Amino acid sequence: MIDKENLYLCKLSMVFKPSQDFAVFTCPIGCPSDCCKFEGFEDMPVVLEDEVRTLTQEAGRIGVKLRFEPYGEHNGVKLYKWVIEGWCPFFKGKCTIHEKKPLSCRMYPLVLNLKTGDIYLSEKCLWVRLNGPKPLDHFPAEKEALKKLVIKLRL
Ligand code: SF4
Repeated sequence: MIDKENLYLCKLSMVFKPSQDFAVFTCPIGCPSDCCKFEGFEDMPVVLEDEVRTLTQEAGRIGVKLRFEPYGEHNGVKLYKWVIEGWCPFFKGKCTIHEKKPLSCRMYPLVLNLKTGDIYLSEKCLWVRLNGPKPLDHFPAEKEALKKLVIKLRL
């Protein structure tokens, strides 16, 4: 029997066109890391309450103060916008908190539109621009992160 979360992901996977070739997502050589640089409020990561605590703790280790703004709630789960203007303070040529980064970073370039429930691929991502739309199977680790978010948000 397919559980509720898997059913949801099955539906999401249909959003993408099926493809013959198979290339698992990986950051391309020479990637400008645009995913860790933010220019507009809409673009900034949405994080969960426990992630705010983890990020604040990590920021304390490097003497940086982070800013979060309440961003409503979803099925009773509080959400926050992590306000980052320019480069993420944890980006030093690569993510320096890889094991502790929030789900929105883990699932990138998959993006969940919380208003519509739609999932899409960020065109900010160089791999996406090079490879075009692909089914979720091309993003195994990111799909797992998305699944965790789906469970946490009780979608
Ligand atoms: S936490 Fe890591 S992956 Fe997320 S934006 Fe910052 S540097 Fe990039």
